[in-house]
Amino acid sequence: MANLRQAKTDDEIKKLTVNSVKSAYHELALDYNHLLNLDYVYCPHCGKWKTVKAFYSSTETASGIEHFACKECLIDMCTDKDKDGNRIDNKQKTINTFRRLDWVFIDSDYESQINTLAEGVGEKNRATAAQQYIVMVKSLPQYKNKHWCDSELSVEDDIENNSEDVKIVQKTLRAAKKRFGTDYNNEELMFLENEYQDWISRYDCSQKAQEETFQNLSILKLMKRNAIKKGASTKDLDYSYQQWLDTGNLKPKQNTLDTFSDAQTMGTLIQKYEETRPLPDIDPELADVDKIGTYIDAFYRGHASKMLGLKNRFSNIYERVMAKYTVNPPSYDEESDSEILFDKIFGSKDDE
Ligand SMILES: [Zn+2]
Repeated sequence: MANLRQAKTDDEIKKLTVNSVKSAYHELALDYNHLLNLDYVYCPHCGKWKTVKAFYSSTETASGIEHFACKECLIDMCTDKDKDGNRIDNKQKTINTFRRLDWVFIDSDYESQINTLAEGVGEKNRATAAQQYIVMVKSLPQYKNKHWCDSELSVEDDIENNSEDVKIVQKTLRAAKKRFGTDYNNEELMFLENEYQDWISRYDCSQKAQEETFQNLSILKLMKRNAIKKGASTKDLDYSYQQWLDTGNLKPKQNTLDTFSDAQTMGTLIQKYEETRPLPDIDPELADVDKIGTYIDAFYRGHASKMLGLKNRFSNIYERVMAKYTVNPPSYDEESDSEILFDKIFGSKDDE
């Protein structure tokens, strides 16, 4: 169905008998009706006319068909091809295609399709995870009315998709690698660095020994977390952690109010107050504090200038402000005399 029938040219029609024109018209009308009935749908990507079955459904179009591209083209957009022409899943391409189509992308569901394929489980496996995943998105109720904005991406994909966050994460990772070495994976490095930053934002960290203490505390916390995940005992780790807290003079029992304040710099204290008990907003009546400046300019400096007969910025301000409080006696103004108007409305004496 790659090409639809073409209409006959004028020259061709001239050579035909009436009956053949009729049958040619019929043939053309058949195709035309198919088009109107959406039996044939055009794929703008491969430029072919295909049956409705070759397209995914859509709740966004009047026809209920996803016209963006046919199934084949869409799956091509989500995958790579090896040298034998077999499709190979490409997650980033899949995500990009889903974003273009405003389809929801749930990372864990896509990954489980990848795993299912890898394990070869499932009777009627389609060739690619992308294909299976699209069928899920199009048919399962939990995906109904979901769009790209409802997507759940994995951390790494999020990083790739969010350029502003990328820089922060990369910066954090670089700092963490410098501090903790490269024996950890990215997720662990992020945990270590966040933990470390948390410590140094709360406590003074000006000496190398203090740095060392906070590094060790962060590492121990990570080891503890990993041990808990594995279900291993954390007794030794807890003990070391307590030891390091001791070394840094950070034990909670020592944190009576005085030592708590002593252990912190003024800056960290202020930051702590700002974060936990920030100053309330200024009362609305006091919010516009700048007006005070105008008052001083007008009634102090302006007044003094006026008194001394100086003509300057301040005496101008004084005059402008005072004008508001000055009452001028009414005076007769010939130009705005309204005698004529009065006469027009009420009639003049002459009329009587
Ligand atoms: Zn196509």
